[in-house]
Amino acid sequence: MKKVIILGSTGSIGVNTLRVIQEHQDKYEILGLATHKNSSLLESQARKFNPRIVSLYDDEAADKLQKKLIDLDIEVWKGLQGTVQLATHPEADLIVSAIVGAAGLIPTYAAIKARKRVALANKETLVMAGELIAKEADMLENIIPIDSEHSALFQSLTGVDKKDIKRIILTASGGPLRHYTAAEMERVSLAEALKHPNWAMGKKITIDSATLMNKGFEVIEARWLFDMPQEKIEVTIHHQSIVHSMVEFIDGAVIAQLGIPDMRIPIAYALSYPERLPNQLPPLDLTQVGTLTFEKPDLNLFACLRYAYCALEIGNTMPAVLNAANEVAVQAFLTNTIKFLDIPRIIEKAIDHHSPSPILSLEDVLAADQWGREMATSLLPTR
Ligand code: NDP
Repeated sequence: MKKVIILGSTGSIGVNTLRVIQEHQDKYEILGLATHKNSSLLESQARKFNPRIVSLYDDEAADKLQKKLIDLDIEVWKGLQGTVQLATHPEADLIVSAIVGAAGLIPTYAAIKARKRVALANKETLVMAGELIAKEADMLENIIPIDSEHSALFQSLTGVDKKDIKRIILTASGGPLRHYTAAEMERVSLAEALKHPNWAMGKKITIDSATLMNKGFEVIEARWLFDMPQEKIEVTIHHQSIVHSMVEFIDGAVIAQLGIPDMRIPIAYALSYPERLPNQLPPLDLTQVGTLTFEKPDLNLFACLRYAYCALEIGNTMPAVLNAANEVAVQAFLTNTIKFLDIPRIIEKAIDHHSPSPILSLEDVLAADQWGREMATSLLPTR
């Protein structure tokens, strides 16, 4: 039995991880679940999976849950300290890192430092601190990707000698606005931007998919996970989300991983690697899919992808600032404070104003994050 901790159990990845585990209860035991403040969903998860510990970042929500769980023998922890303690629990075999955004960094980094195996969904950790983590973790040994594209690459790269790789190609669905013109994007509503064609995900990553920042983050994530220079990481728009990514070799051969777009497949692989788990999902029927299309992304229209490449090239604290500015801008869009195209505008200004400095410690990353947040917040309209 693998003892599993899920950080972010009430989110889209967290819930899907529990769905996978429910089907394989002979192999996995939930040791702990951590969330921000959704105490009602966490309560029902706790009653169903009987973890030893649950943890809520929000103190009030934790106190509320403690009272509700009085009939069960479950410890309720709270605050950042609770999340970090869970992420480094001595008995944990696997930490699923599925908190959204920069909030995932400290607990994920703590798990990595504690030499835990981390199934990583929280790509922001590698965006912000990839360089630091690359020095401390055994990538693809300590960190197993959950992101479908990186899982595809991980699978395509099994047994491959790195010198034989010509380039890696990340596929992108193009998001809900893939056919929009610049003028249409100027007027896009929140509801339109949240309507992802292929994947059901949390709101933040859905907006990141609409701006293509999500793909930019994935380029940075791939840079550190696979130790690939950015010139060898390309993005192609593939509307159908069937080919999850590809590797091209020096002899022209290309290996791709395909599957239906369902996160339970890469989640299950990250849980069970190097084994595979059977499931009840419908098979991929390529005769039903019919056509697979591939296009170059428009880096003028989707400037966020360009900014991500740019931040990666500059390096040091720049990717952390990119992430922070994006988080502030996306949150502002989600609360109808700014328009859709203000997201790239705010990010551009934040990275333009930043003087990057080297990252020697987690504190350097957190300071850059703070700087990026303050700069982006100063660019928001005052109400
Ligand atoms: P959701 O918004 O659906 O869920 C976020 C989770 O994080 C919730 O459980 C939330 O708790 C928890 N959380 C937020 N802040 C904190 C905090 N400070 N402390 C503890 N828990 C916290 O996000 P997704 O599941 O969509 O995404 C999670 C991560 O996975 C992101 O980094 C995303 O980029 C990545 N990812 C997601 C994919 C997807 O299909 N959704 C695909 C690939 C990667 P609460 O509910 O209490 O607020």
